[in-house]
Amino acid sequence: MADHHLETRLVHDGILRSPFGETSEALFLTQGFVYDTAENAEARFRNEEPGFSYTRYSNPTIAMFEDRMASFEGAEAARATATGMAAVTAAMVSQVKAGDHVVAARALFGSCRWVVEDFLPSFGVGCTLVDGTKLDEWRAAVRPETKAFLLETPSNPSLEIIDIAAVAEIAHAAGATLTVDNVFATPLFQKPIALGADCVVYSATKHIDGQGRCLGGIILSSTEFIETKVQPFLRMTGPSISPFNAWIMLKSLETLPLRVERQTRTAGHLADALADHPKLAYLTYPGRKDHPQADIIARQMTGGSTLIALVVKGGKAEAFRFMNALELIRISNNLGDAKSLVTHPATTTHQRFAPELRAEMGIPDGLVRLSVGLEHQADLLADLEQALGAV
Ligand SMILES: *Cc1c(COP(=O)(O)O)cnc(C)c1O
Repeated sequence: MADHHLETRLVHDGILRSPFGETSEALFLTQGFVYDTAENAEARFRNEEPGFSYTRYSNPTIAMFEDRMASFEGAEAARATATGMAAVTAAMVSQVKAGDHVVAARALFGSCRWVVEDFLPSFGVGCTLVDGTKLDEWRAAVRPETKAFLLETPSNPSLEIIDIAAVAEIAHAAGATLTVDNVFATPLFQKPIALGADCVVYSATKHIDGQGRCLGGIILSSTEFIETKVQPFLRMTGPSISPFNAWIMLKSLETLPLRVERQTRTAGHLADALADHPKLAYLTYPGRKDHPQADIIARQMTGGSTLIALVVKGGKAEAFRFMNALELIRISNNLGDAKSLVTHPATTTHQRFAPELRAEMGIPDGLVRLSVGLEHQADLLADLEQALGAV
């Protein structure tokens, strides 16, 4: 199906139709599989005959989700996981051993930062955090034992942009790989592998489900990277996605372009309408020309974002007043949902960081992250304007 357009591939690619000829992808809610003969079981365990043996290793519904995602991303191979954090952890842990070193951008999702900053060092893997926007800092952080780079762009929640192609070049010159957490851009608007990254990870919990139901994650890379590094780790340690959750994600891919394009269009409209609002210190939106890194965005992204960073004047007290005054938009720490949601990162997702570290990560106390949903843009704008009126 590689010659079809993306929207077509997201409806048809990866289908494994059973002998019943079902129209919609089947949900294979089974732990295991039976064999006709003992010889078949032996052959399947030796990888000498195709088929499935145990859902911790693979499952037809999960395989359909993985193959459709690989088609979407333009990757050779994919492996789904129980959550986005399982995907990030597996992608990083499966590349390093004690004595190795990783370099990561400091503006990472809180739990991703814990994995590289706290967890990996406890097993003897060194870690250096850098300002991901400064290419010199990536270069200076490289050591002879550096094996992997990790970054997220646009970053959560400051919507800062990192030049993927430039960092991939530095990683490769150092003999290291680059892994990109592409949750905020979605595969619709940014293709890290085409820009030189070796591995891409997603929390499918966000825009891929898109309707706030299930947790899931996925790792995409070359067949070699997946089969030699990722697959043995996943198979033996077992952070597998439930076939039910994989089925939700698979069916959600059919509507992802419709949802994300509409949410992005609404977000662009809201960002333009609020950019000069007197109650805001500033607003950051990757789809606007006034984004500090608009030149990199033009090179590496084909769309804006469903997220806006609003910085309310008056710090935490006024940010809270604004959030509490919202009537339609709900307070949550999730994003990418059909429902518009706001988060105050300084007191929730990034609470564990000291104020100086938060400032370094671009998270002032007035910052409110808005995840734009599928509601009508006029209803959302009216709610945001009335709530800013309370500030
Ligand atoms: C949510 C998120 C994760 C973690 O995903 P889970 O599915 O919650 O485990 C990782 N990275 C980013 C950028 C996220 O937004």
